[in-house]
Amino acid sequence: MNRCRCTIAPPSLLLTVAEQGDAETRDAALRTLLTSVALRSRRSSFGPTLLRFGLSPADLDFLPAQAPDTGPENSVYDVAGGEEQALPGRLVRGTTDPPTGDAAVDEAFDGAATTADFYREEFDRDSVDGRGLDLVSSVHFGQRYDNAFWTGDQMVYGDGGGGVFVPGGLTRAIDVIAHELTHGVTQFSAGLEYRGQSGALNESFSDVFGILVKHRAEGIDAASASWLIGEDILEPALGGALRNMIAPGTAYAGDDQPADMDAYVDLPADDDPRNDNGGVHINSGIPNRAFAEAARALGGDAWATLGPVWYEVLTGGELSRFADFEDCAALTVAVAGERYGGGSTEQDAVRGGWEAVKVRLPPDPR
Ligand SMILES: [Zn+2]
Repeated sequence: MNRCRCTIAPPSLLLTVAEQGDAETRDAALRTLLTSVALRSRRSSFGPTLLRFGLSPADLDFLPAQAPDTGPENSVYDVAGGEEQALPGRLVRGTTDPPTGDAAVDEAFDGAATTADFYREEFDRDSVDGRGLDLVSSVHFGQRYDNAFWTGDQMVYGDGGGGVFVPGGLTRAIDVIAHELTHGVTQFSAGLEYRGQSGALNESFSDVFGILVKHRAEGIDAASASWLIGEDILEPALGGALRNMIAPGTAYAGDDQPADMDAYVDLPADDDPRNDNGGVHINSGIPNRAFAEAARALGGDAWATLGPVWYEVLTGGELSRFADFEDCAALTVAVAGERYGGGSTEQDAVRGGWEAVKVRLPPDPR
């Protein structure tokens, strides 16, 4: 099936063929026409066309099953060992295609769909940009490439196996996939600058929504959760996970995340990769733990209790792209108060989370 929207035959030609042909030709022409447009626009924009052929919307059922009425297109490409210049690679699975049997392809596909469903169902957000941006993932990036990233347009996954991640580990973890897609959400909302504390907040929001997508998909309770990001995808000799949100600095041998502001790591935001853009993956442990402590204190479904608070802070327009930890802390406390009431259990939990990591808060009015 041709899923590209750049068609060689103009729609008017296909319509003419459909009107003049026999039943078989008509079906073939309509099928081509309808599969050439975005799935979500079929039913809305083809009503008049259907009427001309004496068809009802139910007659669209000849189209492939599971065509979603809403939601972004979801496409996975195979970049087959190539790097940036080869992106996105060859399309291997589109929105309505069945599983391919290539685990990386199918995991990237499922993870993107699960994450988009999360944002739509929990926060009524249509894809990462809130406007239905198509989800594009490329797998098999580079040779034994030990990372995954968001380019600003799409997700990219290496195969691992270079000594850090187990082969196939990067697409196996739903929290890693949701982490990458959340970088897109941040890009289209608060736009947190990727250096220093604003960069550490950018990383932390990706971990927070990464873990919430996992908790929701797997029915994990905040009180008993491990709060591990990327569990069981590192080479076992390194450790059990990539990050530990409730106990930063303990995920693997050499984990350098601080657990509170007393241990904050002040690094220059220069080009030296060891400095990590001013510690964006290092100091993110502090806001990560603030969230995890607050959510654990409340227990239950963290995506439903504090998910909306963190989401409102990220997307509500008040968090500056240069925000620091204190700005974020003050806003989460304020939003928890607006949502649940001043002095509510939820607001107290948020306050307690930031107190645990020693980030200064505005005075409690009580
Ligand atoms: Zn990240």
